[in-house]
Amino acid sequence: MARKSAHSAAMALGVVLLGPAGIAQAQGDVNIYSYREPALIDPLLKAFTAKTGIKTNVVFASAGLNERLAAEGAASPADLLLTVDAGRLSEAKDAGLTQPVKSPALEALPAAFRDPDGHWFGLTMRARVIYASKERVKQDHITYEELADPKWRGKLCSRSGQHVYNTSLVATMIAHKGEAATADWLRGVKANLARKPAGGDREQVRDVHAGLCDIAIGNTYYMAAMLKNPEQRAWAESVRIIFPNTQDRGSHINISGVALAKHAKNKDLAIRLMEFLASDEGQSIYASVNNEYPISSKVSPSETVKSWGVLKPDPLPLSNIAKYRKRASEIVDEVGFDAGPTN
Ligand code: FE
Repeated sequence: MARKSAHSAAMALGVVLLGPAGIAQAQGDVNIYSYREPALIDPLLKAFTAKTGIKTNVVFASAGLNERLAAEGAASPADLLLTVDAGRLSEAKDAGLTQPVKSPALEALPAAFRDPDGHWFGLTMRARVIYASKERVKQDHITYEELADPKWRGKLCSRSGQHVYNTSLVATMIAHKGEAATADWLRGVKANLARKPAGGDREQVRDVHAGLCDIAIGNTYYMAAMLKNPEQRAWAESVRIIFPNTQDRGSHINISGVALAKHAKNKDLAIRLMEFLASDEGQSIYASVNNEYPISSKVSPSETVKSWGVLKPDPLPLSNIAKYRKRASEIVDEVGFDAGPTN
């Protein structure tokens, strides 16, 4: 797409895309560094601007924003950081890139989904679930532990074990079962792979549809995303979601969230935006646009999300993900997960 048309489309939405070289020190605007895609956050920012008159500027990147914040230091124009994964939010805090926020509206969010020191706040939740072939899988229950059961030999598809979604899942296994048991488990999961890990979560479902595997690991919202995509709709319709471990600890969940940048120049306005994202209105927009689970218990998930069944989240504090993620990544390498099944 031509840059110009992307730019004018963004302008029409009231969002200003700023070039990589320098963000104007837009005093009176909220400047956002976002790992979340523009299509997802634009509707939220538009609603915020309509309500408050406060403008927002977004720099979107799929990688490197924490490093950019660190490199810019006190000169950074960024007021807010929007990202996915509790591990990444903790990393930003640990790297000294964020500052604490005191706000009754934000502290009304469930304590499990925000930093105890107020450095970051979860805004949406997603579960890491099993996509099972409607045709070939008859069971209604599953556990993460069972993914290592030889009955699934050659029947499981997964993206890279080193992707943040998977290292976070492995980190929770370490927290629950210890390192040795986790390594044994992951060896069993690897042995059950149908092929070498490749692609994103949606490509795993594509391969279930194609008959290459019977079950796949993926995040919940991809079901909604595939249903909306004409080329992927058939993939989604060939599977159903099974929420793992509903009969014991619950399913692994992760969050997307927001943090106030350490050197925010427009702190008060940025906090107003954080509060808007946490409000019922903000939470409802998130729920409908991306089909994630609202963090606020006052807001219901979308009808699509509700149709998948009831999510029972693993109550393990998200701080464990940050704590064990490095070790999880090492174990993924130690068992050679990304080399695929070995026979
Ligand atoms: Fe994703």
